[in-house]
Amino acid sequence: MSAAPDRTGRFAPSPTGTLHLGNLRTALLAWLYARAQGAAFRLRVEDLDAGRVRPGLEAAQLADLAAIGVDWDGPVVRQSERLERYGDALGVLDADGALYPCWCTRAEIREAASAPHGDLPEGHYPGTCRRLTAAQRAERERSGRPPALRVDAGAARIAFTDRLRGPRSGVVDDFVVRRNDGAHAYNLAVVVDDGAQGVGEVVRGEDLLDSTPRQLWLGGRLGLPAASYAHVPLVLGGDGARLAKRHGAVTLADRIELGETPAAVRGRLAASVGLAAPGEQPSPAQLVERFDPARFEPGPSGPLPGV
Ligand code: GLU
Repeated sequence: MSAAPDRTGRFAPSPTGTLHLGNLRTALLAWLYARAQGAAFRLRVEDLDAGRVRPGLEAAQLADLAAIGVDWDGPVVRQSERLERYGDALGVLDADGALYPCWCTRAEIREAASAPHGDLPEGHYPGTCRRLTAAQRAERERSGRPPALRVDAGAARIAFTDRLRGPRSGVVDDFVVRRNDGAHAYNLAVVVDDGAQGVGEVVRGEDLLDSTPRQLWLGGRLGLPAASYAHVPLVLGGDGARLAKRHGAVTLADRIELGETPAAVRGRLAASVGLAAPGEQPSPAQLVERFDPARFEPGPSGPLPGV
């Protein structure tokens, strides 16, 4: 008999804003998938974007998660403390001939990629700097503008089956792994960390569905085992846009100010995906008890009733 797959889960917030009800619902679902399968759950703070990280937000995010009943195993991992690991991964890719420098500006990429390109992700990189002649490359090196580092993905097609979205496939573009300001890119750090933390099932918002082929490809290049994925629906505002401050009382603190308890907020989040009756306030343990990962169907992205 083969060993049961490790379903270690994780939630990986960026401390660049207060968690809103959509983030909290995603966290609750990621936690439920792990706990209902008897698996560990990790908390990782994705704080690499120094320009956008705000002091105090990490603590507030962790407190909000704890308040709705999401707990985690082991220490909180911060990406800003793991730069060496990302550097090592770049070394592996470089030794493999899988990296090249890119001097393109955003505007240049937009122009070059404007034609439709089949299954390539939106905003994909058209490969301009991969095809530079030696003279063109020397000219760019002389410009003094620091290059970003991209992978040479060879337009690989990656197929996977998302637990909730079914079979998917996408072509991987030459995405950035180190930005031209020297910061390691999200796609690199997330893959290195999911691997290092032994994450077997990635549960996250469906806005990241299109990043998955890139991450699976990169994990393969780094020799990491492939995780399975479940992309959950987003909470939208009444206008159909992604939830944001302007939609009103959308954070736990906002709801508490309106007189709601964290247990009521948890119940509201659970009810919105069919895990509780309207107005019911199940405990975290009760939710784990009733959550069946094989049958869970959260429905489409949409507004949260009553918010
Ligand atoms: N840090 C990312 C975010 O807050 C999530 C990354 C992931 O779940 O893969 O959107």
